[in-house]
Amino acid sequence: MYHSISSGNQLRVPASEFRTQMTYLKSHGYRTLTADEAVYALKTHRVPQQKIVWITLDDSYKDNLTAAWPILKQTNQHATINFITGFTNKKNHLTLADAQRMKASGVVDFQSHTVRHLDLNNLTYQVQLSELTSSKKWLDQNLHQKTAVICYPAGRANQQTIRADQQAGYQYALSTAPGIATSTQSPYNLTRQRVTPGMSLTVFEGLLTGAK
Ligand SMILES: [Zn+2]
Repeated sequence: MYHSISSGNQLRVPASEFRTQMTYLKSHGYRTLTADEAVYALKTHRVPQQKIVWITLDDSYKDNLTAAWPILKQTNQHATINFITGFTNKKNHLTLADAQRMKASGVVDFQSHTVRHLDLNNLTYQVQLSELTSSKKWLDQNLHQKTAVICYPAGRANQQTIRADQQAGYQYALSTAPGIATSTQSPYNLTRQRVTPGMSLTVFEGLLTGAK
């Protein structure tokens, strides 16, 4: 799990570190999955090869285009951007044109991170459902896809959220709880490994293998 590829706080990983990490994955034989491949692996319990990882970037920051995308292209790695569909007019976020351009390159795909990035826990069922369905519809129509994954803002969800996920047509949901996602977890609360700035490659390697 990444967010912004820049520097300044614990949620931002500098481009130089992101490049080192993507180069590590490439040189160590990892396959970076698309969202479709990750869904298939989780659903069927079958993996395309032993060393796999699903790179996710939350919040659809503009630097995913200016900093992450060139690195992904150069290192031939793939990532999923969890897109906030109501933020396309904000200066520091990706527009629809950005998303379409990036998707066409084949190294990035897009899943939902809701419309307004509100804490779903604090919303009524109907408002949660609206955040989930509207963002899915926007992505489905504008990017010509069947969006299968919802990423919870701040990783927070409740029992109603899971019901809304299903009603909205999502197959999997991503939380921010730490751990390697597996096909035996609840599909609506998949864990993720957080990459933090300044992390050594040894620690990064530990995130991939689950070593403590
Ligand atoms: Zn977020």
